[in-house]
Amino acid sequence: MKITYSIIAPIFNEFENIPELYSRVSEVMNSTGEPWELVLVDDGSSDGSTDRIRELAKKDEKVRPVIFARNFGHQIAVTAGLDYSRGDAIVIIDADLQDPPEVILELAKKWREGYEVVYAIRAEREGETWFKLLTASLFYRLIYRITDVKIPLDTGDFRLLDRKIVGVMNQMREKHRFLRGMSAWIGFKQVGVEYKRSARKAGVTKYPLKKMVKFASDGITGFSYFPLQIATYLGFIAAGVAVLAIPLVAYTRIVTGLHAFEGQATTLIAVLFFGGVQLISLGILGEYIGRIYDEVKGRPLYVVREAPAKE
Ligand code: UDP
Ligand code: MG
Repeated sequence: MKITYSIIAPIFNEFENIPELYSRVSEVMNSTGEPWELVLVDDGSSDGSTDRIRELAKKDEKVRPVIFARNFGHQIAVTAGLDYSRGDAIVIIDADLQDPPEVILELAKKWREGYEVVYAIRAEREGETWFKLLTASLFYRLIYRITDVKIPLDTGDFRLLDRKIVGVMNQMREKHRFLRGMSAWIGFKQVGVEYKRSARKAGVTKYPLKKMVKFASDGITGFSYFPLQIATYLGFIAAGVAVLAIPLVAYTRIVTGLHAFEGQATTLIAVLFFGGVQLISLGILGEYIGRIYDEVKGRPLYVVREAPAKE
């Protein structure tokens, strides 16, 4: 049977959210009167979510379970969802119900109008800490400025993608994935729909600070050389200061006879400062080299324990 809509939800320990996710998605999607499927990707859950997904799949053949061998991370889980979905329009949604399934209808309406990517813009966010709101807002603005790909501000992965887009995305097998950037990179006709992001239904966030930082650096390194250019700029600035400082020091010492810039403190500060700058530059280089290394190894993006046949 031909499937119109695939809904993908990545799941990492969302035991309490799965029943409501399923019932709300079902209600919304049944109201379209078109064939749909729900691809639930279990990203190495340990709280019983896996069995819940299996039970749902047994009860309802519209549920397609993809069970990972371990936790591979949110972006990889969504990627697996894209690999296993069969619909003409593919919707990515969080399993914690922060993205209301009802909004899918609005996304689908735009798709019917001919847009190939319909992303949902977080006009309002409920139940987030001020820290998350501030860092997220700064991050989206920073990445918008420093990358060539214009990734729409305040959008997450909640979006609808046409089959054409997913076809291209499935060929982009990069290891460090930033899906919202990748779908912007592809092009075609893209449009945003505003929505109110709710608070998490149950459980706690699966994105602690460490994962957030990694995600942000994947976004930046994946779409920009700006951090590498910073090292070049710093080098020019430091060299420029030195070129100006040398005659200045010589002049004050020789001509005015002042005992300027004497002592170990001056030397120490200069050495520490440039030592710091060099190490930071090395670290930035390392971020890119580490990612090159991961690509070169050519490992698969994820390992599945159970999954339906791909079509
Ligand atoms: N998630 C996942 N693997 C992970 C972390 C998160 O599959 O390693 C899923 C999680 O179950 C949820 C979605 O990704 O469905 C978004 O995660 P979360 O709600 O914790 O992030 P937040 O909304 O707090 O940024
Ligand atoms: Mg969430």
